[in-house]
Amino acid sequence: MKKKSSFSCRVRMNFFISIILIIAFALLEGCSKKESISGKGKEMRIQEETFGMTPEGDSIKSYILTDGKGIEAKLINYGAILVSLKVPDREGNSEDITLGYETLEEYVQDKSYFGGTIGRYANRISKGRFTLDGVQYTLAANDNGNHLHGGLKGFNKVIWKPEKIESTDSVGIKFHYLSKDGDEGYPGNLSTTVTYILTENSELKIYFEAETDKDTPVNLTHHSYFNLAGSAKRDILEHELTIVADRYTPVDGRLIPTGEIKSVKDTDMDFTNPMSIGERIQNIVGGYDHNYVLNKEKGKLSLAARVYEPESGRVMELYTIEPGIQFYSGNFLDGSITGKGGQTYHKHYAFCLEPQHFPDSPNQPHFPSTILKPGEKYTHLIVYKFSNR
Ligand code: BGC
Repeated sequence: MKKKSSFSCRVRMNFFISIILIIAFALLEGCSKKESISGKGKEMRIQEETFGMTPEGDSIKSYILTDGKGIEAKLINYGAILVSLKVPDREGNSEDITLGYETLEEYVQDKSYFGGTIGRYANRISKGRFTLDGVQYTLAANDNGNHLHGGLKGFNKVIWKPEKIESTDSVGIKFHYLSKDGDEGYPGNLSTTVTYILTENSELKIYFEAETDKDTPVNLTHHSYFNLAGSAKRDILEHELTIVADRYTPVDGRLIPTGEIKSVKDTDMDFTNPMSIGERIQNIVGGYDHNYVLNKEKGKLSLAARVYEPESGRVMELYTIEPGIQFYSGNFLDGSITGKGGQTYHKHYAFCLEPQHFPDSPNQPHFPSTILKPGEKYTHLIVYKFSNR
């Protein structure tokens, strides 16, 4: 009898312990869900941390967007920079496929625009000059007498105001910046936002928006250096590239468009069919650094480029609504930069594909216009879609 009652007592005890454990697990689960943003992809998350302090004493934050399936994008509100992007290979191993640095100090010193938001004008404006509405404007000349990527203090060197974005199937972060009238020589106050969204479909989307109070040229882009082999292990010459463009804009010795729009057919510039980047690069003086004229309907989101890295199996597709894309084969990397994980960045250790309007458009009236007027809204969207083969 005694034995029986102690047995049933133990059973009851176990029952109560189980109930307590179930409640504890349910509470824990509830808490961790609060940290996750988004309902559908239950593991999609934004994680905020301190990244560093600028020389002026501003605290800079990092934001890690995770899709729960191996893609992880780390952003900072200095330069609205993409610091790292981890993507799985065909075996499911996630590795960082972008070049960059580990510390804020290095991003402050950086001259290569690693992962940065580029503005107000991506690529070059000849001699840093243009005339608009009868007024000649002089911009910062930071590249052999030309204006490059927004000047001495472009959008990759300013502090952006961050705002987390929640939705049912994605996580993201929106960065705001007001570029003041006269900034780097440009007219008008330009209110700008750049929004990075990681979706449950293995896409990283970047939306750009801007509004002005005076006519002004605007041409924003994103400047990640990619190496799909992961962590800049080797050069990118074996990567297979397709660019959906029958034409390109040739450049002079200063890398300023000559104004011609030429066919790529039967030339070493042709990437309309998949071709390894290294196949013909020795025939291109200095390497690829050209704007391609995309085959597309104006303003329509469409495939601009596809890159496949045979060893890892990683595939990156790039969609844009912009009329052009700059293909840069990392020609100026010369081994003098040590980046993340102590890696040395040698020539052709990364490529950039920068959707944009054509370089020097403010001085080339037959190129699509880049002038934004008061009351209009500048919008631009880039989608990077990742998969494996
Ligand atoms: C340009 C290159 C430049 C590189 C880094 C690219 O967008 O096309 O000419 O060297 O950015 O500044």
